[in-house]
Amino acid sequence: MEIVNTDARFSFEFFPPRTEVGVEKLKVVHSELAALRPDFFSVTYGAGGSTKDGTRQTVTRINETGSDVAPHLSFGGSTRDEILALLESYQALGINRLVALRGDIPSGTGTASQYYYANELIEFVRETTGDHFHIEVACYPEIHPQSDSYDSDIEFFKRKVEAGANSAITQYFYNQDAYFYFLDSCAKAGIDIPIVPGIMPITNFTNLQRFSNSCGAEIPRWMRQRLQSYGDDSDSIREFGIEVVQSLCEDLLAGGAPGLHFYSMNQTDPVRQIWQQLNLR
Ligand code: FAD
Repeated sequence: MEIVNTDARFSFEFFPPRTEVGVEKLKVVHSELAALRPDFFSVTYGAGGSTKDGTRQTVTRINETGSDVAPHLSFGGSTRDEILALLESYQALGINRLVALRGDIPSGTGTASQYYYANELIEFVRETTGDHFHIEVACYPEIHPQSDSYDSDIEFFKRKVEAGANSAITQYFYNQDAYFYFLDSCAKAGIDIPIVPGIMPITNFTNLQRFSNSCGAEIPRWMRQRLQSYGDDSDSIREFGIEVVQSLCEDLLAGGAPGLHFYSMNQTDPVRQIWQQLNLR
């Protein structure tokens, strides 16, 4: 396939495993995905700092293998000193990329945080560590579920850029028009950083529906109908998912997307299948 943007960058996201079995499994998945030569991996950070240690440990392990890795970070309920200590520990490991977020707020802890919105975290990172980190932020072509309006969401995205974000990764979506319209809206608002589509492979319809409802990603009606029709036939769901997501990735790259970020869900397949069919590297 033809990639319009020859500097396109590719990344794979993991979450920190909660068990020893999960840790061992992720080592295998990481080495299998590292063979595809992505530009970097990223590791999520639990709301309220619940996976702070898990994130740091996972990041450390990946970093030790020589892969570039970007920890996700949010203030959650942590203090300035705690976040600064974490930033310094990442600097000491030689890590120079972060994904800076407000994070999902666990119920009952919404006001505990001193720094709430992502733009405030970015300001803090720039204030304390200067230009050391390349800062990625999240953005939402189908609009963040808690936003008052399309325009205000773009306005708040712009604040993150003004605070020092270098590039953005989108929430996943299956409607490419939403992405390209969002790019136009951002350009009109003066946002000029690369906006990399987040790609969610489809493996399980029930989980995808639950996830999509909470994060505001739309599953188009035709896809929903098709996925529903497969019932418990997980092979057909996966096969359809690979076909749809591969075609989405092709259209995004052909339309000039600056790269792809895959939500791997700590699984090698189907990311690898999509990747191989795209013939990316
Ligand atoms: P913000 O940019 O702070 O925006 C949050 C909401 O507040 C939006 O509705 C926005 O319009 C509004 N807003 C923003 N700034 C202001 C302001 N200054 N004043 C008033 N309103 C404002 N969650 C996790 O818990 N851990 C992760 O590791 C994680 N990784 C993610 C990675 C990616 C690529 C993406 C797309 C999402 C990720 N999430 C993660 C989910 C994310 O934390 C949630 O979507 C969260 O609800 C918003 O985070 P944010 O950084 O986009 O928030």
